[in-house]
Amino acid sequence: MNDHITAYQHILNGETLDLPLGKVVCVGRNYAAHARELNNPVPTTPILFIKPATAVVPFAGEIAIPKQQGECHHELEMSVLIGKPLRHASETEAQAAIKGFGLGLDLTLRDLQAKLKEKGHPWEVAKSFDGACPLSAFVPAAALSDPLHTELSLQVNGSARQQGTTADMITPLYELLAYMSRYFTLLPGDVVLTGTPAGVGPLQVGDQLVAQLGAAPDTLLECRARVS
Ligand code: ZN
Repeated sequence: MNDHITAYQHILNGETLDLPLGKVVCVGRNYAAHARELNNPVPTTPILFIKPATAVVPFAGEIAIPKQQGECHHELEMSVLIGKPLRHASETEAQAAIKGFGLGLDLTLRDLQAKLKEKGHPWEVAKSFDGACPLSAFVPAAALSDPLHTELSLQVNGSARQQGTTADMITPLYELLAYMSRYFTLLPGDVVLTGTPAGVGPLQVGDQLVAQLGAAPDTLLECRARVS
């Protein structure tokens, strides 16, 4: 196994947690403007998929993308660290189970995904490959004064690529977690990626990424990485 695959550990408030990483549950097309930019219909129920723990790497230092497999797109998303089990949960239970918030990249082999979608096949190899899920450290849940109205942004080589607010989620955060828990039990150490705002695009080797949760002067989290 590649070294960087095993390097990830949850970090909350600057401390490494004694909480093993589980699965990453993700939602497709949770921002209408992003669904439209890829010419996809805006869904009426959340489209869920899972990235395994082997897809997760730290969102720091160098992020390796697959080579010779067509475009690999960045999708910047707010991430949620689950702290309590959730199964058939209410929105209130979902809110109470959030241990931390952070940022994640839902890396997507877009050309491959397009071919799979055309044939009606599952997306896994385009979204769940080793390294497909860089995750930042987390800030404690209480650090976000309003998780339902929090900004997130990604700069690539100094230019703004993605800029959004969680207020634009089609299925809002707590409802999304509750919905997920009807199908997948969420366990402590699992992570949820909450969908990407518009502005996705291909990454190139050498790109410098700066991602922020919250906007200045209230930036809650910033992570930097270089694409390799
Ligand atoms: Zn995504």
